[in-house]
Amino acid sequence: MDKSIKNETFYLNGLNCPNCAAKIEDSLKNNQHFTSVNFSFATKKLVVESPSSGSDAFTIIADTVNSIEDGVSIEKDAFTKESSDKGLTELFKNHSYTIAGTLILVVLVIFNPQFQNPLIGYLAAYLLIGGDILLRAVKNIGKGKIFDENFLMSLATIGAFLLGEYVEAVAVMLFYKVGEGFQDYAVDKSRTSIQALLDIKAEFANKIQGSSINVVTPESLHINDIILIKPGEKVPVDCIVIEGNTTLNTAALTGESLPLSVKKDDNILSGSINNDSSIKAIVTKPYDESTVYKILDMVENASSKKAKTEQFITKFAKIYTPIVVFAALFLAFLPPILGFGSFSDWISRALIFLVISCPCALVISVPLGYFGGLGSASNQGILIKGANYLEALNTIDSFVFDKTGTLTEGKFSLASVTDDLTLKLASILEIHSNHPIATSIVQSASDEISHDMAENVLEIPGKGLSGDYKGLNLLVGNDLLMNENDISFPQQTLIGSIIHVAYNHNYIGYIHITDQIKANSKDLIHTLNRDGKETVMLTGDQSYIAETVAAELKLSNVYSQLLPEDKLTHVESLITKGRKVLFTGDGINDAPVLARADIGVAMGGIGSDAAIETADIVIMNDDPSKLLTAMTIAKKTRTIVIQNIVFALGIKLFFLSLGALGEATMYQAIFADVGVALIAVLNSMRTLKLK
Ligand code: ADP
Ligand code: MG
Repeated sequence: MDKSIKNETFYLNGLNCPNCAAKIEDSLKNNQHFTSVNFSFATKKLVVESPSSGSDAFTIIADTVNSIEDGVSIEKDAFTKESSDKGLTELFKNHSYTIAGTLILVVLVIFNPQFQNPLIGYLAAYLLIGGDILLRAVKNIGKGKIFDENFLMSLATIGAFLLGEYVEAVAVMLFYKVGEGFQDYAVDKSRTSIQALLDIKAEFANKIQGSSINVVTPESLHINDIILIKPGEKVPVDCIVIEGNTTLNTAALTGESLPLSVKKDDNILSGSINNDSSIKAIVTKPYDESTVYKILDMVENASSKKAKTEQFITKFAKIYTPIVVFAALFLAFLPPILGFGSFSDWISRALIFLVISCPCALVISVPLGYFGGLGSASNQGILIKGANYLEALNTIDSFVFDKTGTLTEGKFSLASVTDDLTLKLASILEIHSNHPIATSIVQSASDEISHDMAENVLEIPGKGLSGDYKGLNLLVGNDLLMNENDISFPQQTLIGSIIHVAYNHNYIGYIHITDQIKANSKDLIHTLNRDGKETVMLTGDQSYIAETVAAELKLSNVYSQLLPEDKLTHVESLITKGRKVLFTGDGINDAPVLARADIGVAMGGIGSDAAIETADIVIMNDDPSKLLTAMTIAKKTRTIVIQNIVFALGIKLFFLSLGALGEATMYQAIFADVGVALIAVLNSMRTLKLK
């Protein structure tokens, strides 16, 4: 990686308008200074990548943000939670002008006939209620942004004044503000809910130093530090228990609701919550390599990969407003010039047109819908790295699986072994491998095995390992590896995997290990088959084992004894046939396939780091049936997003036609604008609770 590139994180506090957020992100992306820009509206986090030399990122960001939206504070690395439950007093304080204006309006309407010159009163009410909107409209025109909501509302209400519709002008402004207020509240609420879903980071850690306990930040912990985790506290970084027993709540990480018992020597993941009693643990990973950091990072970056629908809406919004504004211009002047009706009649129709013209409902609700879907999935222990993958889940027709660790447990138990020497020699090499087979063999060895016993160890994917022990060649692996090295071995028909050992070109013996099919694999394959999907298993394992597993699970196709590149060839041939392919795997050797498939899914618990990094979706608790959950969430999210698009556009088109015919009132226009946006946002919030 290029060392002269640096990453910086900023928080844009007080940025509450998704439309402006999109504009800010767009404009920063077009700035030559940044090589990458990523803003997440839900978490307010902006991550930029720029050459470390050259001008200051902060200044550029501040300039861009200020030119687009007022009242945003930019903070580096600091996230201040904005309190969302504002009290009644605060409500009155913040809206005192609007309330005063409303009172004036009420008095004017009730006692209307008694006033000589009510215009002054109405103007006062109007300015109290809508003064800030007028001001913003003027400022934005100064910044070259016409056609924004503030401008449209100002134009429409000033127009109403000129046409002598005083009450209407003031009331429309009032409705607009009330609607906006509700809309902001709803957006804020859904943001808070998303943040609550992601509230897995511990605020502090109790570090044990000698006889004292110091409260420190999780970021300041180092490997081998000793920490104390009390009941009710979150585990700050990944660590191993050294003293005490307890149960952990891992729901936020894995979606698993049953508490997990842990004891001395167990690995525990950051982000889980200690339920019962205090434990001491030794730190195994610094904060920025721990699970909690990786999850937050993935989820926050997910919003940069936008769904196609989302991209379409953003493009659509850019052309929709100008089109409606020009249509309004024609509507205002063309018919009266041609002699149909009066100017005032057509202008008032055009004003109604303008109010309906804002595509806010879509611009706000569609991204929020996807973000909610991603949040719900992460709450179920499914990390989806982008809205595009959430959307693509709906189109998959081929489900391809790796066997070991994906459909089967990948936790092997030793069925039989030729002798102790075989096991010892195997372990001497296997201690260098992370393959599930390796872990189980090393655990079964009775001799003390250390990393330095073997030299020149080489892992041969899909085959096994080779290395030197006491200066002579040692081979540990399957039939393929033995054949390749011209070592004859006894043929086996045992159910399970056979790992042969050869030393100095002599056959020593074999280890017979067995694996079990995961409890939920059968259910998953059954459901996929029932829904008419193709189910394929690709494995590096022996054919007879592969066939047994495939028959038990009723997979539609199975290919065995594959090398990593063969797996890739199979997936590629499916893709060339025009299929949408989802591949699920766990090993380093699966990484190329995970990258090539339309959607790559990795097992987060057992999976290698390479697989997890390359994958588009990570299943935290290794349960393959979570794929079904992910698909359900994807389907429901899409339904909600489509509902919003159809509803918002439908209502708008309906009122636009009524407006053109002169049948719509300004009040209905306001409903078509803010009312629809509010309903769409509320509908989007349903995506937060999907299962
Ligand atoms: P799968 O595709 O089923 O996940 P892999 O491609 O990871 O399987 O491995 C395929 C085969 O290669 C294994 O079944 C085993 O026979 C052999 N193999 C891979 N890694 C090792 C290892 N570390 N030790 C012994 N055998 C191995
Ligand atoms: Mg595997």
